[in-house]
Amino acid sequence: MISRVEENEHIEVLLNTTVKESKGFAGSFLTTLARDGKNLDVAHGVTILATGGKASTPSEYAYGENNSIYTWNELEEKLLTDPDPLYNAKCAVFIQCVGSREPQHPYCSNVCCTFSVRTAIDLKSKNPDMDIFILYREMRTFGEREALFREAREKGVIFVRFDLDHKPTVASKDKKSGLQVIAYDPILEKSIAIRPDFISLQSAIIPDGTTEIAKIFHVELDPDGFLAESPQKMRPMETSRPGIYLAGLAHYPKDTGESIAQAKGAAARSLEILKQDTIQAGGLVAEVRTEKCAVCCTCVRTCPFHVPVIDHDLGAAFIDPALCRGCGMCVAECPGKAIIMTSCSDEMLNRAPLVLLEQ
Ligand code: SF4
Ligand code: SF4
Ligand code: SF4
Repeated sequence: MISRVEENEHIEVLLNTTVKESKGFAGSFLTTLARDGKNLDVAHGVTILATGGKASTPSEYAYGENNSIYTWNELEEKLLTDPDPLYNAKCAVFIQCVGSREPQHPYCSNVCCTFSVRTAIDLKSKNPDMDIFILYREMRTFGEREALFREAREKGVIFVRFDLDHKPTVASKDKKSGLQVIAYDPILEKSIAIRPDFISLQSAIIPDGTTEIAKIFHVELDPDGFLAESPQKMRPMETSRPGIYLAGLAHYPKDTGESIAQAKGAAARSLEILKQDTIQAGGLVAEVRTEKCAVCCTCVRTCPFHVPVIDHDLGAAFIDPALCRGCGMCVAECPGKAIIMTSCSDEMLNRAPLVLLEQ
């Protein structure tokens, strides 16, 4: 797929490139990129933000103290590049929710339960005698993935549940005995000691670069630092700004199938704009009466969408009708009453009761 993209004459791939600035609106964006020390301006009709995410680095379970303790992505790489030591192991332990669903990352990372169950089935298929323990808080193999959970149990994978008050502990320093995991089994009502050959830590998936991207494109972040989807109904895949869409882990942790479905959706939504010869802007938007403007910058500071700017040639604030979202906050805040909503002026509102009384 990478070579298909690179060879497509309609796709230009720019690697080692940084986005510096972006302005404009749906149908007419201008983004400045920095590449090899030079700036490159790109005009484009829509934007799809797909920055991806990354695995967090665990600060517990003796991570970093022993080469046989992997995060899920490190284990996946090891399985691709050098699987034999893993397939020949006698015992493996998977620890779930490492850093997820805890105060620093209160969300579920979504894919790690399925990763562990699927990997355990793979290991058991290669080496049925291997003892595999999955230490979990809740098993979130939802939908059709439930069949994988059942298959793992049928193959003899042992699931041990824990809660935050009884987290497993990992000791790795004893060179002679190697790794040791102590877990409290709520069914046996006693602690068990496991001596695995390797451990997989399902560390939280965290956003990657979304804070900088959100500032450049003036879009919102959710409380966990992922890019936020528009709260308005019927605008899926779109950020808080029209014409700027999102896909994949930039939005929240999700698996490849869901990421591809979302990317296809974002591409389809983009066509709504790209297929048009012209874009109509304006409608219910704010407008500055320049003769009344005292250039106090209140509107510049107030607008949640960063629309008003001071036009020094004009000597007044300027609101681009293509960018204004018509929320009316600047209208209410302008101390000089210099801003009006074009299709909902103060005069119209003041006269509305009189019109009703005349009926
Ligand atoms: S997918 Fe499973 S392991 Fe991952 S955060 Fe959610 S519950 Fe925890
Ligand atoms: S708040 Fe009103 S007076 Fe102040 S800069 Fe904006 S338009 Fe001008
Ligand atoms: S009406 Fe809302 S979106 Fe438009 S300029 Fe004023 S504060 Fe910004």
